[in-house]
Amino acid sequence: MTSPSPKQPLFTDADIAASTPMMAQFMEVKRNHPEALLFYRMGDFYELFFDDALVASKALDIALTKRGTHNDEPIPMCGVPFHAYESYLTKLINHGYKVAICEQIESPDEAKERAKKEGGKALVRREVVRIITQGTLTEDTQLNQRENNFLLCLSYRSGRMGTAVVDISTGLFTVEDNAPENLGAIIERYRPSEILLSEKLYDHNDFHALFLEHKKKLTIWPENRFDVHNAHERLKTFYQVTTLDGFGDFSPPLLSAAGTLLDYVELTQKGRMPNLNRLVLVEENTLVQIDAATRRNLEINQTMNGEKKGSLLSTLDKTITASGARLLSHWLNNPLTNQDMINARLDAAHYFIDHQGKHNRLRDTLKNCPDIERALSRLSLDRGGPRDMAAIAQSLQMAYELRDALQQAPRDTQLIDESLPLSLKDVLKSMKTTQELDDLLDVTSRALKAELPLLARDGGFIKKGYDASLDELKSLRDNSRALILKLEQNYLERSGASTLKIKHNNVIGYYIEVPATQGDKLFNDESKFFIHRQTMANAVRFTTVELSELESKISSASEKALAIELHLFDELLSLFKKNATGLRAIAYALSFLDCTSAIAELAVTHNFTRPVLNDTNALDIKGGRHPVVENSMPKGESFIPNDCAFDESNSLWLITGPNMAGKSTFLRQNAILVLMAQAGFYIPAQSATIGIVDRIFSRVGAADDLARGRSTFMVEMVETAAILNQATEKSLVILDEIGRGTSTFDGLSIAWATIEHLHEMNKSRTLFATHYHELTALKEKLKRLSCHTVKIKEWEGEIVFMHEMIAGTANQSYGVHVAKLAGLPAPVIERAKQILSQLENKEQKGSLAKMSEDLPLFQQVVETSKSQQTNQALESLRDKLRDIDPDSLTPRDALDLLYALKKEAE
Ligand code: ATP
Repeated sequence: MTSPSPKQPLFTDADIAASTPMMAQFMEVKRNHPEALLFYRMGDFYELFFDDALVASKALDIALTKRGTHNDEPIPMCGVPFHAYESYLTKLINHGYKVAICEQIESPDEAKERAKKEGGKALVRREVVRIITQGTLTEDTQLNQRENNFLLCLSYRSGRMGTAVVDISTGLFTVEDNAPENLGAIIERYRPSEILLSEKLYDHNDFHALFLEHKKKLTIWPENRFDVHNAHERLKTFYQVTTLDGFGDFSPPLLSAAGTLLDYVELTQKGRMPNLNRLVLVEENTLVQIDAATRRNLEINQTMNGEKKGSLLSTLDKTITASGARLLSHWLNNPLTNQDMINARLDAAHYFIDHQGKHNRLRDTLKNCPDIERALSRLSLDRGGPRDMAAIAQSLQMAYELRDALQQAPRDTQLIDESLPLSLKDVLKSMKTTQELDDLLDVTSRALKAELPLLARDGGFIKKGYDASLDELKSLRDNSRALILKLEQNYLERSGASTLKIKHNNVIGYYIEVPATQGDKLFNDESKFFIHRQTMANAVRFTTVELSELESKISSASEKALAIELHLFDELLSLFKKNATGLRAIAYALSFLDCTSAIAELAVTHNFTRPVLNDTNALDIKGGRHPVVENSMPKGESFIPNDCAFDESNSLWLITGPNMAGKSTFLRQNAILVLMAQAGFYIPAQSATIGIVDRIFSRVGAADDLARGRSTFMVEMVETAAILNQATEKSLVILDEIGRGTSTFDGLSIAWATIEHLHEMNKSRTLFATHYHELTALKEKLKRLSCHTVKIKEWEGEIVFMHEMIAGTANQSYGVHVAKLAGLPAPVIERAKQILSQLENKEQKGSLAKMSEDLPLFQQVVETSKSQQTNQALESLRDKLRDIDPDSLTPRDALDLLYALKKEAE
């Protein structure tokens, strides 16, 4: 297993033999975990040694110290406190390191006992209890609650890319069989925090460059760990089945990817397996295929600048619960091709729009539904606490209340309201009450207190009245103060001392203390009742048999109470584990309700409409708006809606128009509306009929991919090639300014040929924006091509962008105008205008070399424009002189005029 882990010396037997027992133990453990930074527990600290210490102290910016020597060199060491280790851990994990947590698995007393029996040194036993990696986190403090945390495993065999994905923090586990060229798209779709793959795949020429882009996330295993047979067996064992036939038909790459993934999870969790959902096989054609570049261009999860704010997801996410947010993100990232499945979501949203009362009640209740999925995962890995149990119980209770409210019938009648759409009926059925879940609710509400500690080991979470023996022990512990006070009073009276106190410290426990002057009174007790313990400068300390007995009762009561609480916790835990499947179904039902009501909320508050889906190749969006641009319009301005209509006879729109007119917005907008519709969302439009799309392609703008050694133009061409090779009649293609990254004629020719290919071969629904106005000539030749442009108004010499899409072609780009708006220096604008007018007037447009000879140089233009300005000034002066009537001037006026003219001349 490798990752960007530190370079580690592999300790030899000789190293171990020559070391102290403690260092030898460290080396043994470290030998087995060379890939991870080893957090070696010593008392209240996790210590790191050797190279791990060098790496961690640097990454965490903590002090590097030394401990002992190895080969006559001091051993570097650094440490983090056990009670506050999580923040350090998060930092290291975010740097891409793995951390192995090595705990003391016996107490020093137990170690001494063992040493007595076995001989040798009393060294506390230690074991790695968990390897923490980015892809196997479960803690809320280290995860974004509203996002999944995916671990991806790839297995490439027989020309197919088996992909298995797990989120152990929620239980989601899926596999899909992909064409290898889709690898980039898969990674972009899941955005995993860790990728497990074989050395062989990592080195594969076709994928190596892609893997290098994700280097920090990679865990590389030897090829033999991806063995199909072993993986198959592991899957069967995990699901406790003799055959996987009931799960689907898994090809060897799928078995290998899914089984190896389980192997890795087991290894990092040190044998504790999370409770995962049933393995789901995602069929390739059930999802709209969206390649990596298109996903980035459409800014689904983050903007081009890498920010979440301003992304499509952040604009559309109106969910309330964390698990709802994760599901909504999943929907938006995985639009569907199956109309029934899409309509199931839309029907549910429609119902909530029509039933605002229920909708509001639902959203209010969801505010009180903690995250079942993550709490359950922690419990299933024995990492959860009482708060996780209470959270699950609370959500379960809320789910039942919601179910009753939505079906408008008491729970026990099991009736489902007939007016509900099928999808909501199914969801309500999956929230059905079972005896087991009722028992779980009952037990937790009786057992757990309202205020709970995070960890079971802290104790104090079981309610009074739940367990009689626990109550007894607790009352002894809690009454100890009163008992001690009673003893104190007795001893005071018995001894006759003027002051006497019973105190406690950690070294000698409870003791009786009197001032030194009063000591004799206790020493002189006839029946030697008081036993002397210590004589201090000003005080003497005693104990009694009675006090010692009470003390041991009190302290063993605390220990026993904690032991009973832990036992009760384990009982509850097994109840939760037993009901994991039912609880997961409830969790999904709540998420579904959250997502569909969020879609309804957005539709109502933002005036979105329900799209109509069909199997044609049409697309008819009336009054469409870009949801993100609309959302960020400055106050007082509104987004101009636009239509987009394709049918069999008109499926390729060639859009020309000025810069800044809104072409790119229009292109993206339509791709986004299709994506939203197929993800089951209402969309910002007046009306929309959408023939189901199988793939969305978007090539917008230009971006370098220097990491993979590709120039801007190369990237543009690679992406265009992917579109031309893969787009079908069912696809939606948006292309913005293809050919921009090369010389005018090369670019124009490529754009021309691309349009022809899309029209004749791919026959996809296409929006093609360009500044090559020459391309509009193609409308005479290609029958399904139509020309469109964006309306502008010229007003007092300025251009006003109307952002309205109309039929026709633009006669110019107004690029110079936009450049002026952008603040290019005036001489440059002047010069550009001059060049533009000469280029436009040139009869022989092809002969650019000749044109450049004809054109004056930049400096000359600046000079010319300067002399033009001087001439204008002289002209004005002359006009003023000509207009003077000397006879009509007073001496004073004449003098003022003289001064004014002199000033102007200057
Ligand atoms: P260029 O050719 O320079 O790339 P463009 O024609 O592609 O320009 P866009 O980038 O789409 O223009 O839009 C320019 C600006 O106009 C955007 O910042 C956007 O906010 C605004 N805009 C676009 N469409 C609309 C619309 N329909 N209603 C209101 N504002 C719009």
